[in-house]
Amino acid sequence: MLLLIPGPVQTRAEVRAAAAQDYAPWDNDFRKVYARIRDRVLAVAGTSAATHATLPLQGCGHFMMEAAVRTFVPPGGKLLVPANGSYAQRAIRLAREAGRQVVELTAPDTQGITADAVAAALAADPAIGHVAMVQNETGSGIVNDPAVIGPVVRAAGRRLILDAVSAFGALPCPLADHPEIDALLFTSGKCLEGLPGIGFAVARIESVTAAAGNAGSWSFDLSDVYAHALRAGWGSFRFTPAVQALAAFDVALDLHAAEGGQPGRLARYTENMQALYAGVRGLGLTPYLAPAHQGPVIVTIHQPSDPNFALQPFVDALKARGVLISNFFNTQAPSFRIGCIGAVTPEDMRRAVAAIDGALGDLGVTRRQAA
Ligand SMILES: *Cc1c(COP(=O)(O)O)cnc(C)c1O
Repeated sequence: MLLLIPGPVQTRAEVRAAAAQDYAPWDNDFRKVYARIRDRVLAVAGTSAATHATLPLQGCGHFMMEAAVRTFVPPGGKLLVPANGSYAQRAIRLAREAGRQVVELTAPDTQGITADAVAAALAADPAIGHVAMVQNETGSGIVNDPAVIGPVVRAAGRRLILDAVSAFGALPCPLADHPEIDALLFTSGKCLEGLPGIGFAVARIESVTAAAGNAGSWSFDLSDVYAHALRAGWGSFRFTPAVQALAAFDVALDLHAAEGGQPGRLARYTENMQALYAGVRGLGLTPYLAPAHQGPVIVTIHQPSDPNFALQPFVDALKARGVLISNFFNTQAPSFRIGCIGAVTPEDMRRAVAAIDGALGDLGVTRRQAA
């Protein structure tokens, strides 16, 4: 089966093989693996242990976002969220439930947020201390560029939390260039092509130190993860981790480096996206995004207007042809989405396009354009 979802992604056999044994996370041999993962993550993030720390938690991306909001935004503090996609909506909900005030910067889900919009929102409300932004919106495939928005946040004297969950390892955000970022967040199972199970924050040490006491939660306190590392060493995980996922992640980092790191991975994903985007257009389907706003991580496609189209039967027909995609959408208009990330190639994308053509035929869908 060709798995084309935007996480957890298709992985290489070497990565899965590393998980096929038992490990004791506190064992001295394993401590070295964990400590070296933390250093390697700093290198991928374009920074070093002089200014930043890798602070992992057990679990998924939402846990990281909640932990970062709780840790860096003080209780009752105000957070601006550029709301141009479904993952931003999730950040808004979890921030509100954590008792933080949220200002939504509403924008269409078909293009990245602009510097002017963020600058105006920050100027209008001096009480906003933080911006929380999603780097790659995994609902639509647009990119909110930290190289564009970071300088605006910095110039306004505010702080940035970056949800880089579906971006890190492929889209650039060198932290040495972004002192306004308190933390960027990602998980083991997306663009780094590891197994799911571990979430990571790469956090500015200055910010973590200043944030002690904010979280109102022991489990989701990144400053306590940092304090634990200082106390117990960088090879000690606070509470029991998904240790097989960590072991596999170390191998995934080898493969990432061998591919040329972030630029190499971005180049392959971009080729994947281009093969898919051109292919589905060639089938008469309508991509959700204009080419200028199409990012490299997922391609979202309007559901065909033909009444014979329905999402679950389409996903089933495609699966019968060896390609598995998401059976839900989270764009404003009905769509389906195909991941370009994971251990997949442009050739796989061409196979997927042929399978989509066949699956639409199976359903009797002839009118393929959007309504
Ligand atoms: C995948 C993803 C998350 C986290 O999802 P989980 O299911 O909690 O791992 C958060 N933000 C973005 C942009 C994502 O793509």
